[in-house]
Amino acid sequence: MGKEDRQYKKIGVMGGTFNPIHHGHLVTAQEALSQFKLDVVIFIPTGNPPHKVENRLASAEDRYIMTVIATSSNRDFFVSRIEVDRKGKSYTIDTLRMLKKIYGKDALLYFITGADAILEILTWKNTEEIVTLCNFIAATRPGYDLTRLEELKSKLFNNDIEAANEKIFVMEIPALSISSTDIRNRVKNNRPIDYLVPEGVSNYILKNGLYK
Ligand code: ATP
Ligand code: MG
Repeated sequence: MGKEDRQYKKIGVMGGTFNPIHHGHLVTAQEALSQFKLDVVIFIPTGNPPHKVENRLASAEDRYIMTVIATSSNRDFFVSRIEVDRKGKSYTIDTLRMLKKIYGKDALLYFITGADAILEILTWKNTEEIVTLCNFIAATRPGYDLTRLEELKSKLFNNDIEAANEKIFVMEIPALSISSTDIRNRVKNNRPIDYLVPEGVSNYILKNGLYK
């Protein structure tokens, strides 16, 4: 991150595989920054899982570098190596605890996710502790329905909807039907990825023969 000494109060945390990072991620982060008046957004690419599930998973280092390339022109975006450098599987709860340690107890963390990821995260174990560590921003995403979110929220907060609404926010963003899966498929099939990812990311993928 390199900016640990600065005192941030409202910190957006954008976790993801970023295999590769694309404009859907960037628009989501930028909207969160603006709508929630965040000081920064920290992108945290996941490390390499011990057992590869996706056989076209680029190395953690390549995914980290692409995330740096994609975010370098934005003064409010940073990339963290926390999960890339951690041995073994990374748990979001450990990452959040670590961020609290770095930025202090008073820092407000906002975990930014898409509509698909929020539903997954809120059904994990440790959810009760996770919601004490951070707020959630759930961005709308084409193809994913957020109606189940209300149900999960009331369950998690024992029907205290007011308390739930102070912790978990839905954020409308301009719909971008872009996914890393589609980008990997396009690269494999020699179809264009221009304008779906930043130019530097597209160059990096081609130069290093990723996703072939
Ligand atoms: P994959 O297809 O490999 O799953 P992905 O495009 O879903 O990739 P991830 O790295 O899995 O990207 O996602 C990181 C975070 O960004 C998740 O919270 C996900 O919901 C969100 N996200 C990804 N694409 C979009 C999009 N187009 N609009 C809104 N949110 C998105
Ligand atoms: Mg995904």
